[in-house]
Amino acid sequence: MPEQSYYLGVDIGTTSTKAVLFDRAGKVIAGDTVFYALETPNPLVAEQDPEEIFRAVLTSVRKTIRKSEIDTKQLKLVSFSSAMHSLIAVDATGSLLTQSITWADTRSAKHAKYIKERMNGHEIYLRTGTPIHAMSPLSKVLWLKDEKPEVCEHAAKFIGIKEFVFHELFGTYVVDHSIASATGLFNLEQLDWDKEALAVAGITREQLSHPVPTTHQLTGLVTEHALFMGIPEHVPFIIGASDGVLANLGVDAIEPGVLAVTIGTSGAIRTVTTEPKTDPKGRTFCYALTENHWVVGGPVNNGGIILRWLRDEFASSEVETAKRLGIDPYDVLTKIADTVNPGADGLLFHPYLTGERAPLWNANARGSFFGLSIHHKKQHMIRAVLEGIVFNLYTVLLAVEELTGEPVRIQASGGFARSDMWRQLLADVFDKPVVIPESFESSCLGAVVLGMYAIGEIDDFSIVSDMIGQTHTHEPQEEAAGIYRELLPIYIRLSRLLTAEYESIADFQRKHLE
Ligand code: ADP
Repeated sequence: MPEQSYYLGVDIGTTSTKAVLFDRAGKVIAGDTVFYALETPNPLVAEQDPEEIFRAVLTSVRKTIRKSEIDTKQLKLVSFSSAMHSLIAVDATGSLLTQSITWADTRSAKHAKYIKERMNGHEIYLRTGTPIHAMSPLSKVLWLKDEKPEVCEHAAKFIGIKEFVFHELFGTYVVDHSIASATGLFNLEQLDWDKEALAVAGITREQLSHPVPTTHQLTGLVTEHALFMGIPEHVPFIIGASDGVLANLGVDAIEPGVLAVTIGTSGAIRTVTTEPKTDPKGRTFCYALTENHWVVGGPVNNGGIILRWLRDEFASSEVETAKRLGIDPYDVLTKIADTVNPGADGLLFHPYLTGERAPLWNANARGSFFGLSIHHKKQHMIRAVLEGIVFNLYTVLLAVEELTGEPVRIQASGGFARSDMWRQLLADVFDKPVVIPESFESSCLGAVVLGMYAIGEIDDFSIVSDMIGQTHTHEPQEEAAGIYRELLPIYIRLSRLLTAEYESIADFQRKHLE
């Protein structure tokens, strides 16, 4: 029998770090997840302890290797995925001056607005691919300078969480092109820090990590950490990319024309192009996977979190029923929604309960039901909520399509994919076939496939289609698709019409509720 080879993917996420060991066929051999806190002392702050995350990386790898019982001589590589947009300031000795300020932290909203309106923000976006928003490290650096000048005075480097982890492991500050492309400071054409963005942030390139391709390999792992993790010191570590672009690779949405749709707590749609593309209207992001693979798309805040809200606030009797039947309350809700016609008999729901990123990029947007009439019942409202979440994602596609053309197929993932009804709804609203890959650790799998490419084991990414397997496919149903085609223009017009009123109601809420 030929010797087996193993590949370890590590995904540093916002709620946990996951390590997953795959064999060459894409089979999961073992895995481990270590959770950590997201500190949110008030709604604007979302920070994490980088040291805790580093320990989670070490522990998840150690436990995965132990559980797998493999001969570690057969471990070919360790490759990394991580969340985007985090910012950490460190001093010249590498000591932490801040926590890791995550993508979800919105304290720099005013600074983002300032960059957009006063500092040529749109031009910066067109070159850097990161929408000018509070999530972006560019806005965060400006905020830090304003609000914590004493920190900035001592800041030798501004880094992200993956750079912190790699510095602990290898003693060097490097950043992959993918994570760099999500900082708002990185010029996509030049594959280097953008001079004007640096000037706006008021920092020098020496204060940032050295950019390297996502296939970059590091060796010389600190012995103590290698021993703790239980892996040989010489195993190549591939720096990898961000979780978003690797999820595209890990669900096999890597060919142009294939769209990846994720609905977890939040949501996103993403597709791959062979060169960087940004939106003249500033609605989409463009992040690097490799020099020949760029991921264009948009993130939405309001994904499954809205169904969770509905379950927790309005569905206590359905939750009780689910308990009695020993099934998931979400299954009860989607079954109830399935008793209603597509289009919920003319009831529309805008899901902007947490403001919205793509496609509106408006933190003041708010949710609404529209079209309510006396014949509508609770089940219509449940269906309208599920449809509204998908309509919102569809409006992101309309922006993405202008850059990349119409997709032919959707590869979908995330918690929503547990529901047959919701998957079909996606196929009907988008009017495209939907495929659900079996592998749900898509960012870890993506990291591993990128790693195999980096060490020269494969020449392209086509292997991934054999590795992912597939569980469900859904074809669009003509009748339902027709109904959605009628409703979507109303849905879109409404949210445009409400722009000024979103502002008014958000102002009211701030004034009276905070
Ligand atoms: P994460 O945000 O951590 O990626 P998931 O991908 O598990 O989380 O997504 C969680 C969301 O998926 C939930 O908020 C819910 O809206 C949705 N979900 C989970 N299970 C089901 C189900 N059985 N049916 C429909 N939706 C579900």
